[in-house]
Amino acid sequence: MPRTYAIRTFGCQMNEHDSSRAAGLLETIGYRPADSVETADLVLVNTCAVRENADNKLYGTLGHLRTLKAERGTTLVVGGCLAQKDGATVAEKAPWVDVVFGTHNLGSLPDLLLAADSATLPVVELVEQLESFPSALPAKRDVRHHAWVSISVGCNNSCSFCIVPSLRGPEVSRRVGDIVGEVQALVADDVVEVTLLGQNVNSYGRDLEVDGRAGRSLFADLLRALGSVPDLERVRFTSPHPRDFTLDVLDAMAETTNVCEHLHLPLQSGSDRLLKAMRRSYRAERYMDLVRRTRELMPEATLTTDIIVGFPGETDEDFAATMAVVEEARFEQAYTFKYSPRPGTDAAMMVDDFVDDAIVTTRYHALEALTRRHSLESHQRLIGSTQELLVQSPSKTDPTRLSGYTRGHHLVHLPADDRFAPGDLVTTEIREASTNYMIGSPAIDVRRTRAGRATEAALARGEGWQIRHLPPTDPAPESATRRRLPVLPG
Ligand code: SF4
Repeated sequence: MPRTYAIRTFGCQMNEHDSSRAAGLLETIGYRPADSVETADLVLVNTCAVRENADNKLYGTLGHLRTLKAERGTTLVVGGCLAQKDGATVAEKAPWVDVVFGTHNLGSLPDLLLAADSATLPVVELVEQLESFPSALPAKRDVRHHAWVSISVGCNNSCSFCIVPSLRGPEVSRRVGDIVGEVQALVADDVVEVTLLGQNVNSYGRDLEVDGRAGRSLFADLLRALGSVPDLERVRFTSPHPRDFTLDVLDAMAETTNVCEHLHLPLQSGSDRLLKAMRRSYRAERYMDLVRRTRELMPEATLTTDIIVGFPGETDEDFAATMAVVEEARFEQAYTFKYSPRPGTDAAMMVDDFVDDAIVTTRYHALEALTRRHSLESHQRLIGSTQELLVQSPSKTDPTRLSGYTRGHHLVHLPADDRFAPGDLVTTEIREASTNYMIGSPAIDVRRTRAGRATEAALARGEGWQIRHLPPTDPAPESATRRRLPVLPG
């Protein structure tokens, strides 16, 4: 019987990406996915140091896993940012853990597991320099049609609220040819959509020498290069940085057919005073200039953002400045966060300037009300339009519907239909809109993909989603037969 593994991932997409690589590595040494953490022979906790109470959550999880280890002899592995930050402490506080490794040496995992077989104390390995690019390691994907592709790791900025630079180190970029090669291999393995990952995609490539020259961002070149990969339907990326954003990236987005019209541009604050305190080296006018240029060049583009409310020292005037930028930018979606201090960051030391909780909550609700109104209005404007969706999965709340994303990354539910499966591209007409999603008509057109056919074959073998048919409730095209899909286990 092969040994089995389960991975619990905390934090951001970079950690999700690393977890998919850890899964790939474990499978190369014979492990297979377990049905649950409780039945796994090995449990890997991929930690995050960015989120609030990260260490409490980790030690809570490890306490639960200790019982599991005592009962079943489960091998316990801790990786990720918190492990990089606190590695030795993790081994001291939770000596029942078998392996602790950091963000730079994911590739050592098989060796560390071997070493742990004959060790009585946790095997801890933390290195300061990146040993191999995570994307060079084998990966295990959650879905057939989509893959994360890391284009750079680390960050050269020093935003005062962020712990990433001290944990992931300075920015290191991969060569354009390596990335394109990986994407081609993914497409040959049924992927139709990739999301490029970097802490700051706009400074991608500055550390690379091309034709004897370094210091130039190669991100626009990369987008154009990916535009010529056959059968790659969609390219997304996260996250850009307003300071480093160059207009050639907007041109590349507008001119490259498979690059989706969606720009997630973190604002963080609309107040120049606060942006300075955050060490975000752009100002509100520069940000709005990018917004205007985007809307001019790509009127269909979706703009989304991140905003922190209650950063230390935020006054009513600062908050009003943020509201003014949001009012003008009219983001299709905004991810809003109440500031919470992250140990190890400069902002966490600004204790005297912390803003009263009640004030932060009031501002947060005001901002949320505004951004939700904008989301609803942007969805309502799309009623009556036709949109192509990349089908993702059955809807979580209604198994008679499938969910998919438009090129602009709007979530749309449409009636399930046996002409297509997750991974296929379907055209629908938008019929209803709410703040968080839209409802589409029965599929007007279907473009089958290899991913869709492979998922359909897996469904027929009884893997993944279960399928049930429902009588139609909405006039369907002649050829459409309806069915409903309940949710994927786990
Ligand atoms: S750009 Fe700022 S927020 Fe983003 S990873 Fe770098 S330091 Fe952190």
